[in-house]
Amino acid sequence: MSSQKGNASRTRPQKHKNKTVFKNSLHDTSQRTKVINTIQVSDVCVRCKEIIEWKIKYKKYKPLTQPKTCVKCGQKSVKQAYHVMCGACGKSLKVCTKCCQSKEVVQAESSEKDQMKLDNEMKALLQSLPERKRRTFIRYMNRNSKEDNSGKTGDGKEELMQKLHDLKVDSDSDDFQDSDFGDSGDESDGT
Ligand SMILES: [Zn+2]
Ligand SMILES: [Zn+2]
Repeated sequence: MSSQKGNASRTRPQKHKNKTVFKNSLHDTSQRTKVINTIQVSDVCVRCKEIIEWKIKYKKYKPLTQPKTCVKCGQKSVKQAYHVMCGACGKSLKVCTKCCQSKEVVQAESSEKDQMKLDNEMKALLQSLPERKRRTFIRYMNRNSKEDNSGKTGDGKEELMQKLHDLKVDSDSDDFQDSDFGDSGDESDGT
């Protein structure tokens, strides 16, 4: 029995299997392919995103040489290939900028990277502070996390970052008092 003729659900494994995942940059190291590989498909629905990403992966993607006319506002504002609508129109109408259907749209994935960048910046800043300031900050951070149980960590981080910057500035001047934040500075508003 060499082949299982007519057997739709074959049990033997595929004979010639790809050892590696297809990579479009394997033999093509041109700048064009590099640039196309960095394209982040956004403002489209999941299905359209998959279609465009498939084109990118299998080198079918043809970038626009000049902006296309948006089907909604009529401006030459479509900068991404295969999109028919500009990002602004897609956002205001809450539709996919490729198929124009009102589906849930994929946003640019920059926020996660930004968060990571923020985390690293915060660590670096914290390390640059003297031990005393570091403890002050950690105390502030703990107090803040107790107060803030709304779960919006992103906003909290921005605030902590600001605090760290304040501390860093403060650590340059000697008259910084190692007291709790917010206790001083309210003196002017006495009743
Ligand atoms: Zn438009
Ligand atoms: Zn779509």
